[in-house]
Amino acid sequence: MNSASIAAVKKLLSVPQKIVIVPHKNPDGDAIGSTLALWHYLSNLGQKAVIISPNDYPKFLKWLPGNAHILNFERENSQAKEAIENATVVFTLDFNHLGRIGQMHAVLEEKEATFVMIDHHQAPSDYAEIMYSDVLMSSTCEMVYNFIEFLGDTSKITPEIANCLYTGIMTDTGSFKFSSTTSRTHKVVAELIEKGAENTKIHNHIYDTNSPSRLHLLGCALKNMVILTAYRTAYITLTQEELDTYDYQKGDTEGFVNYGLTIENIRFAVIFIENREEGIIKISFRSEGDFSVNEFARNHFDGGGHNNAAGGKSDTNMKETTAHFVSLLEHYKDKLMA
Ligand code: 5GP
Ligand code: MN
Repeated sequence: MNSASIAAVKKLLSVPQKIVIVPHKNPDGDAIGSTLALWHYLSNLGQKAVIISPNDYPKFLKWLPGNAHILNFERENSQAKEAIENATVVFTLDFNHLGRIGQMHAVLEEKEATFVMIDHHQAPSDYAEIMYSDVLMSSTCEMVYNFIEFLGDTSKITPEIANCLYTGIMTDTGSFKFSSTTSRTHKVVAELIEKGAENTKIHNHIYDTNSPSRLHLLGCALKNMVILTAYRTAYITLTQEELDTYDYQKGDTEGFVNYGLTIENIRFAVIFIENREEGIIKISFRSEGDFSVNEFARNHFDGGGHNNAAGGKSDTNMKETTAHFVSLLEHYKDKLMA
């Protein structure tokens, strides 16, 4: 964050504001962790802040301190709209274009307020007056830690804030193993533990809450996996029917896509998940090494993200979507086999 932006934030927060904090649609650990941490921090400063999530999120994130205060734009629509109407400042966290917030985009695009972006995805759009955008960061949570540090306030990091930030760093780095994890990430995490983050408890809350049906769904996903050694690619499909069979709950498919990459010599892993209600196939892309799934998702599946983790969608059915996907691989053969 440059010094002009830091000064602008300081000035902004030197007077009472009405603040709305927004994560992306289908928020993950980093999105919920960062918005809650920022909410605690701003509320403790005496600011009036509210988090509005575009939609619901997995149960394994609902233990986080402050969770009960999060408004769901779909469920508490009038309350959420009123908060946005009254807002003087809007923080957008863990996304960088307004297309990532579903139905909320129509309301926020019209909104006159000071927008502050804190985000680590590629190719930010220019809706925010104050931007803290850094694609080299492991997570938005690491950036919120930096943000608090820029404001000279690390002494104000409470155990609640520490737990929220630790959660997002842990989930976005695949428990500190992705290449975005730096020595600085570990230093921040060490500080968070010093300040009260309960690392073992957090890990249990996030990863050790499997239901039997989720494990059966994982079994189904692994059985469906198609391995294309000629392209060093593995992909999984899950139809709505399969999701229904295993009593799919939001968040159940989290992490499934990564199994493809655990196969020797596989560099590109994908999962296609049918969402009949939205009439789309939601897609997650993961890669190892230089193959940019951000570019792939952006070019072919109306998506984006990071070099090694991205998402997108398709409006055609599962069969057509996967056939189209496989047909694209030939064009990327050199990059995939390099
Ligand atoms: P996931 O596959 O876990 O949903 O997302 C992987 C990464 O890609 C995350 O950083 C997420 O924010 C981003 N992402 C997921 N879906 C989309 C999408 O439809 N559009 C864009 N631009 N980014 C996405
Ligand atoms: Mn993130």
